[in-house]
Amino acid sequence: MLDLTGKTAVVTGAGRGIGETIARLLAEQGAAVAVVDINLDPASGVAGTIQSAGGSAVALHCDVSDPQSISRLFDEAEAQLGSVDILVNNAGIGNFKPMPEVTLEDWDRVVDINLRGVHLCCQRAIIPMCERKSGKIINISSMGGQLGGLKVAPDYTAAKAGVIGLTKSYARYGARYGVNVNAVAPGPTATEMVADHFDPSSAPLGRLGTPRDIANAVLFLASSMSDYITGATIDVNGGMLMR
Ligand code: NAP
Repeated sequence: MLDLTGKTAVVTGAGRGIGETIARLLAEQGAAVAVVDINLDPASGVAGTIQSAGGSAVALHCDVSDPQSISRLFDEAEAQLGSVDILVNNAGIGNFKPMPEVTLEDWDRVVDINLRGVHLCCQRAIIPMCERKSGKIINISSMGGQLGGLKVAPDYTAAKAGVIGLTKSYARYGARYGVNVNAVAPGPTATEMVADHFDPSSAPLGRLGTPRDIANAVLFLASSMSDYITGATIDVNGGMLMR
């Protein structure tokens, strides 16, 4: 039931980190994957190694803070791969400034990428999914959006809390058409974004998360295993936040 053969997936921010691992895992399960990033070079590298391993992938450029870039992305993905069955809104940036130092420019940049970009990608993808009465959207939030942020600035936590709210709104819209919309909220995960910011022993499970831990939850939500789940946020945080 985790098999994604015949499905097309778009994964944003997939040139490295969690997004790269999600793209690789979905491709391993048979999906044709659009590996999307603001920098085409790393995305091309990821798509190339997926192809070398026998998978199907294309690299596409998109800056998710730019509405026109998002529009071009989906037009291109549909032209090259066909209808989009799975959208993973993973692209995001961190902000580790102390709260008093957060500028208006920081706020706009973080919110434009981490929240507005998620909304615009959902809005563009969900209409054709609803017409086909099938689709899975997975938005990457953060434990920081639930807890208030251990080290991250309020722009980041506000945007990631917003992702949980917009996930529920899109889930309500998509539900009557058989489109599932869910979120994954990682705790500190060993990528360049959080390198050196967290002590692994702070998680009850005794280690930081890995990109694969997050990708496993995304795969579950992208597959038919999760057909009766929508509007949910799956916590993948090693027990750092228990609800
Ligand atoms: P990462 O290693 O920094 O990777 C993020 C990727 O997104 C990079 O390839 C980056 O490109 C790309 N990107 C940045 N801005 C973009 C834009 N405007 N348009 C398109 N792509 C863009 O981050 P990560 O740790 O894998 O995080 C992935 C997601 O998980 C983010 O949404 C993050 O907030 C969330 N998350 C991460 C953690 C964690 O502990 N790592 C915890 C909770 C939530 P460049 O490299 O060129 O900038």
